[in-house]
Amino acid sequence: MNSGTTVTDIPDQLNTQKPRLWMPERVVFTPAALEEPWGQQLLTKMQAQGLPIEELPRNRLTGLRGESDRDTYDIAKRTLAVVTAPPSAFKLSPIPPSADWQFHIAEGCPAHCQYCYLAGSLSGPPVIRVYANLPQILANLANYERPGEEKSFEVSCYTDPLGIEHLTGSLAECIRYFGTREDGYLRWVSKFDAVDELLDLPHNGHTRCRVSVNAAPVSGRFEGGTAKVSARLGALRKLALPRSQGGGGYPVGIVIAPIMLMDDWELHYTKLFDEISAAIDFDCDLTFELISHRFTPGSKEVLLNWYPKTQLDMDEEKRSVKRNKFGGTKYVYDNDTMKTLRRFFESEIKKRFPQGRILYWT
Ligand code: SF4
Repeated sequence: MNSGTTVTDIPDQLNTQKPRLWMPERVVFTPAALEEPWGQQLLTKMQAQGLPIEELPRNRLTGLRGESDRDTYDIAKRTLAVVTAPPSAFKLSPIPPSADWQFHIAEGCPAHCQYCYLAGSLSGPPVIRVYANLPQILANLANYERPGEEKSFEVSCYTDPLGIEHLTGSLAECIRYFGTREDGYLRWVSKFDAVDELLDLPHNGHTRCRVSVNAAPVSGRFEGGTAKVSARLGALRKLALPRSQGGGGYPVGIVIAPIMLMDDWELHYTKLFDEISAAIDFDCDLTFELISHRFTPGSKEVLLNWYPKTQLDMDEEKRSVKRNKFGGTKYVYDNDTMKTLRRFFESEIKKRFPQGRILYWT
């Protein structure tokens, strides 16, 4: 451990200027959302930021479609809707291998990743919906805990919770909640970097903060609207450093996803590991998750509507087909490619971060 390291002692390339903060052009509240005390807090917080706020006449979101799928995408990605979570949000699903359970405080994300994981999983225009009944959502999680058994809860399956945190404060509320639990652990992941408000929260070691990073050709070409990888790593450093050194003292993680077989991939991913090594140059509770690129027929169709000019390689001919037990099809890299990639990533991590734990490769 480099005991002299502090938050401000960040290597130059990680020293972020201003964090990336997304501001919606339009904010709408449903009447039901305004009846919720947390909805009122969201209203106050957003009014204080001078956002243009409208109350909808009904609880349905309408008027968000454009003339084409691409227009609808543009309108939706500039709109924040505060709604109440549907009853289905109270019936949790498992989310292996990332966590025992997933839950949702929002749906949709302000970034524009051309491989977005949400494509094909969420229906309707990709408007960013924030849930106004957060206290009920959190209270429901206790039903999924088991005394004496650690249970993990992933909150970033349908949104990037840090990307909208400056507008909502909902992630901080989750972190505070899990800080009071005996056996419940929170996990979140982001491609944004505004973490200062999270550093002093009473997390009690029950939240693992992760950033998703990628090699420059992938992040530069395909991850529109996100914070730079160097800024994400600078944010992770702040979260991981001990409180005594000005950090958040959180368990942290690096998600490398989606891992892509590009020209000179080894060189580009080695450079990424150099950046990670510079950011996390001290001992901490660190995990890695490694996710190779895949797509489904449904996600490809949605992504091509959203990003008709994308250079993303989604050629089925070059992939192997993987079927799940429900008959769904995924296109993944072939076995030999997977083995080569996996060997490289696992050996870099073992060499550079002997204290780090690889949670899974997929
Ligand atoms: Fe999709 Fe995640 Fe990118 Fe947001 S950050 S656009 S959820 S892949």
